[in-house]
Amino acid sequence: MYLANEQRYQIMLYRRAGHSGLKLSALGLGLWHNFGSVDVFETQKKIVRTAFDAGITYFDLANNYGPEPGSAETNFGQILATDLKPYRDEIVIATKAGHRMWPGPYGDGGSMKNVLASADQSLHRLQTDYVDIFYSHRPDPDTPVEETAYALDKLVRQGKALYVGISKYNPQQTAAIEAVFADLHTPYVVHQDRYNLFDRHVADGLLQKLRQDHTGLVTFSSLAQGLLTGRYLQGIPADSRAHRSDSPFLHEDQVESSLTKIRQLNEVAQAREQSLAEMALSWLIRQPDISSVLIGASRPSQLLDNLKALDRLDFTSAELTKIDEITA
Ligand code: NDP
Repeated sequence: MYLANEQRYQIMLYRRAGHSGLKLSALGLGLWHNFGSVDVFETQKKIVRTAFDAGITYFDLANNYGPEPGSAETNFGQILATDLKPYRDEIVIATKAGHRMWPGPYGDGGSMKNVLASADQSLHRLQTDYVDIFYSHRPDPDTPVEETAYALDKLVRQGKALYVGISKYNPQQTAAIEAVFADLHTPYVVHQDRYNLFDRHVADGLLQKLRQDHTGLVTFSSLAQGLLTGRYLQGIPADSRAHRSDSPFLHEDQVESSLTKIRQLNEVAQAREQSLAEMALSWLIRQPDISSVLIGASRPSQLLDNLKALDRLDFTSAELTKIDEITA
């Protein structure tokens, strides 16, 4: 039987999701990769236990995570039903709908039809009556924002979600759906987007908007899918996701073209007595607008390394300038 580490809440920082009463762990575990039916279940279990033992309470899923699509929810549901069952009230489970999940006109997008059916399927796979956060995974140009907002609001009214969030909406799309949430009094608390040392597009208006509106930011690909770690310093390892055809962002040419910058950033990290991954995460966690920094992991040791980011959140202005110069 699994017994959680009693010291877990002394390790982690917790941040409010915007102005809501919900606190998220400053680091959250993402289950996009490494939790599918193609991955070893025992390793998945160890990663989840390691995360929870370190005070990570936020677990980030989506209907389509796998492969095969749905299997990450099924696997996490299995771990929840056994190991984590006594701790359900100490855990924030998030899932999403909006990317292609099943064939035909209703298996994708932000319609009432897709979102409500997808949520029921997710709850079934996760073996839980409710999720803590339900996200619209991406904006859908074929559905009025009002409809997507009503669908998310309905999930809350039905008791199937406690809070809602949106992902990958630009500032204009965010403003449009937020207005409907405000009318409906929907507990909309977080926005999820890509943000890391290399990709700072959120600083181009979105961060400012979220700050004004008191919405928390949850960052994904915080390590640029592993590029901002020591994993690629000597070239691409054989077991990297860069070789996998189901990896839409990390391509071999992207790894090659980033190597010089990665090595320069690594030197800055070493001078700070941190690993590159730790520095990349510290750089995000230190920003107060960020409620949680999501990280993926293919083994428990990666998670344990990344936790050390919490120990060095201070940066000198010279370090920040150097990092900006390298990544410009
Ligand atoms: P990251 O940028 O966090 O990269 C994670 C990968 O980096 C790991 O799988 C591992 O690669 C490598 N890694 C992590 N730590 C270390 C370490 N200490 N040393 C060496 N290598 C390390 O992640 P993701 O892009 O996977 O995003 C994280 C989560 O964000 C997802 O799981 C998902 O929950 C969410 N997300 C949401 C999206 C959205 O549309 N809303 C889109 C994308 C992600 P390897 O597996 O090769 O070992």
